[in-house]
Amino acid sequence: MIEKKINSLSIWFFENLLRYEEIGHFVSTRTGGYSNTPYDSFNLSFNIGDNPQDVLRNRKLLAGALGLSLTSLATAKQIHDCHVKIVSEELRGKGSIDYKGAIDATDAMVTDVPGVCPMVLVADCVPILMYDPTRKVIGVAHAGWKGTLQLIAPKTVKVLHEKFGCSPEDIVVGIGPSIGQCCYQVGQEVVSQVERVFGTKKDYIRKESADGKGYFDLQAANLKQLLQAGIPEKNVELAKVCTFDHPDLFFSHRHAKGKTGRFGVGIVLR
Ligand SMILES: [Zn+2]
Repeated sequence: MIEKKINSLSIWFFENLLRYEEIGHFVSTRTGGYSNTPYDSFNLSFNIGDNPQDVLRNRKLLAGALGLSLTSLATAKQIHDCHVKIVSEELRGKGSIDYKGAIDATDAMVTDVPGVCPMVLVADCVPILMYDPTRKVIGVAHAGWKGTLQLIAPKTVKVLHEKFGCSPEDIVVGIGPSIGQCCYQVGQEVVSQVERVFGTKKDYIRKESADGKGYFDLQAANLKQLLQAGIPEKNVELAKVCTFDHPDLFFSHRHAKGKTGRFGVGIVLR
């Protein structure tokens, strides 16, 4: 990934997606916005107790920095499930200026409508961007441990394939900053679900303790699922950045013990 300073903001970009001039994309950081502690300062979520006026000003900063209108953004009420929503023209701008207008109960969005920018909001969960340059379709998904174990990433690929005719081998993917295995201890109940879903835990869980806890590699799990869905490894860029280790740069839910903001990850066809 590379970082660019745009006005007051620091925005990160995937090098593999920057190659395509017909799309825009972004991974925002937490600096350069208006929100106060503990949402300081570039919080993009309306749903976590921050002052909505500050969030709106932050969203306007984001849109301005990217050359988008505020109502290009489309956001969802994320529920850590595995529903993939097709963002049609009628859903343009849903959730762009408040939470109540956001798309219901969705953790991944895909669209082929130019100027619609689906954005997920994260703070430790794995954000995933997808682009098919052949079919000109984009997608974004958000995978915490629940979404990962419900296969949200390959389900998004499946929708791209079945509804838009995309071939998995054409899809270019960016896997963004999220909590790394270094810092992501999970309980025995999650460890056993990992083993059940993947058929093994050895590639995903490390440093198991006597009480059954272990460290879960969410990024590796999502990468593996995408490769199994037919995405070529050369098409995938992994941020390899742990949000917990960089709380000055990215919001980390676990580092902040739950009281923090959300950064945004989105993509748009121009
Ligand atoms: Zn870490």
